[in-house]
Amino acid sequence: MELEKEIASRLDQPIVKSTDRQLYEALLAYVKDKAEDLPYVKGDKKLYYISAEFLIGRQLGKNLINLGIYEDVKKLLAENGKDLSAVEEEEAEPSLGNGGLGRLAACFMDSIATLDMKGDGVGLNYHFGLFKQEFKDHKQYEVPDEWLSTPNMLRKTDVCFPVELAGKTYTSRMYDLDIIGYKGARNTLHLFDLDTVDDNLVKEGIDFDKTQIDKNLTLFLYPDDSDDNGRKLRIYQQYFMVSNAAQLILKEQKELGHDLNDLDKYVAIQINDTHPSMVIPELIRLLIKEGITMKRAADIVCGVCAYTNHTILAEALEKWPMNYMLEVVPQLMPIIEGLDYVVATAFHGDKELSIIDDENRIHMAKMDMHFGHSINGVAALHTEILKKQELRPFYDIYPDKFNNKTNGITFRRWIMHANPQLTALIDETIGEGWKTDENELEKLLDHKDDETLLNKLGEIKHDNKVRFADYMKKEQGVDIDPESIFDVQVKRMHEYKRQQMNALWVIWKYMQIKAGHLPQRPITIVFGGKAAPAYYQAKAVIHLILCLQELINNDPEVSPYLRVVMIRNYNIAKAEVTIPACDISEQISLASKEASGTGNMKFMLNGAVTLGTNDGANVEIGDLVGRDNIYTFGESSDTVINLYATNGYSARKFYENDKEIKKIVDFITGPELTKIGDEKLLKDLQDNLINKDWFMTLLDIESYVDTKEKVLHDYEDQTAWKKKALVNIARSGFFSSDRTIREYNRDIWHLTSGEAEEK
Ligand SMILES: *Cc1c(COP(=O)(O)O)cnc(C)c1O
Repeated sequence: MELEKEIASRLDQPIVKSTDRQLYEALLAYVKDKAEDLPYVKGDKKLYYISAEFLIGRQLGKNLINLGIYEDVKKLLAENGKDLSAVEEEEAEPSLGNGGLGRLAACFMDSIATLDMKGDGVGLNYHFGLFKQEFKDHKQYEVPDEWLSTPNMLRKTDVCFPVELAGKTYTSRMYDLDIIGYKGARNTLHLFDLDTVDDNLVKEGIDFDKTQIDKNLTLFLYPDDSDDNGRKLRIYQQYFMVSNAAQLILKEQKELGHDLNDLDKYVAIQINDTHPSMVIPELIRLLIKEGITMKRAADIVCGVCAYTNHTILAEALEKWPMNYMLEVVPQLMPIIEGLDYVVATAFHGDKELSIIDDENRIHMAKMDMHFGHSINGVAALHTEILKKQELRPFYDIYPDKFNNKTNGITFRRWIMHANPQLTALIDETIGEGWKTDENELEKLLDHKDDETLLNKLGEIKHDNKVRFADYMKKEQGVDIDPESIFDVQVKRMHEYKRQQMNALWVIWKYMQIKAGHLPQRPITIVFGGKAAPAYYQAKAVIHLILCLQELINNDPEVSPYLRVVMIRNYNIAKAEVTIPACDISEQISLASKEASGTGNMKFMLNGAVTLGTNDGANVEIGDLVGRDNIYTFGESSDTVINLYATNGYSARKFYENDKEIKKIVDFITGPELTKIGDEKLLKDLQDNLINKDWFMTLLDIESYVDTKEKVLHDYEDQTAWKKKALVNIARSGFFSSDRTIREYNRDIWHLTSGEAEEK
């Protein structure tokens, strides 16, 4: 009754007569007001999580869940003939992130608030985010993602800071978004912007004038850095982000009356990958302005800052040319040179350790490692590779700084919101305790032989497959058979993730079917993901997939047995429909290259079985579920690392020595595909696979094909398969981001929760 009045008071007409859009806006207003009534999380010490990305997804449904009123709202709408899911579809997804790293930041914000830890996010308010992906002529096209034109959770504040860029002072503006903990208090995500940014600067596609900083600064996340102006714009963005963060931190601490000499008692900063690294010299600079000596300031900042490494791919460890830095942030260079001098003195000029290299480039990660107190990898294997290989010299001098924090995902979104039916089944079976103590999911193991439960699990999977098929019909007009096996690979397009290997499997299966070897059951291969606009090879793989989709789905001989579907503009909302429908989770990165992965965890939690390499968190998934409940294949990370070190891999040898491989690879430029696609693009892709194949697709293709055949065969024993699904769900508690955050707090942040304070 109360709820009905609240919502009715925000509508100009009765609920029955309201459109979904009107209902969305009313519910948004209601949630905003409810959030404002919530207290802020209390605590003596506060975390600032600085990140270039926050891939937070649509907010309405998640906020209703965390406020504990999702079911009530859903019921109320249903009584009036309205569907809450349809209302949620009215929200534009905030375009503030790119992939796993940004999604991790979002899951962390949710867990930090839920665990009653005082912690705010700091980032940028990108007007058009990464980009919106469109397909034309079987290719990816990028257009601006105009998410800000739909009413949303952002609150404009009057908090502004002066930020000096290339010698000129700009005035920032802070926008706030409430992060509501599950049945708890709230924290804030602070997103900075410039009032002068001009959306009309964007002309063709996502091209814009890269020199007009006052107009372009926050238009896009990761602007194309293939030219000098693009690279400089990234430095402008990064400095703008961290200067605002540093000023906000000092302002809040001064308001609390804290002595800045004790900053490490009151503040923890987590540097999410190297994009926010400049916060270190910026904070030191500001502390010096407050009258603190350089040496003391560096010590204070070291006690505050901690760095998370997300990748061993060389291109992602940022190194900025000194002349760019001198142009964009001249005020930081004396500080950075001072820090470099400290390192040179302490380590006798060892070049491997120095922040500024012989080519006058500044290594952001090295600055983090010297002047932060913690360095963490994001899965057990990844942290070991960092210690033994990639960051070995730093592990040798700072062994105590290194620690592992295996990534996690928030169960509030990735099962409670994404898969309400499975959530209800788990509640019925083991009670609701797992929602606050994720390890309770293990109680499901007591029901491993309960046939009724297994059958219900199967029915829910089927319902979710029907939901996905309907969604894809409506969105993209494609026909998907819910009775087929759903094999899913959705993630950013990148050669190391090896979507091309899955595409080669599709070609192999197509040829098998043409030769009369029919699968026992139809198979649907689902792809989804964006390629960076300047990443030619990743776009070529998208082209191959879209050409295969066209060829196979229109072939009456093959399409009853095999279909290929590429999801357009894969994002959080689409992930939430796709993942619960999946049978086989494809996690096939080249061993050693996927730092953790979090998609793998979402699939596991939703009862999919992993087909993967021994890479990233797949290793930990395997340890948890046991050999019978995961399918692994391919060379080990040790072998791969050795192949790189010795230059021992030759794709051409695999191509020339194996007739099957040659046939598959040759198909890429055969008449079937060149009739549909762009001959040059396909030829370039093929050439790359034969002559370079930097991520060793052909190394693992045979073992991949064999293992996938075994998976498809095992699927036919449905009782055994459903048990595998159940074990995966039951063992997924470890991957709750609540667990990850407790570990960050225990080992790095040392925040006291508000609860503890009241005792
Ligand atoms: C979880 C998620 C990712 C990360 O997926 P990985 O398989 O770990 O690379 C990327 N994009 C979206 C939309 C996600 O939800």
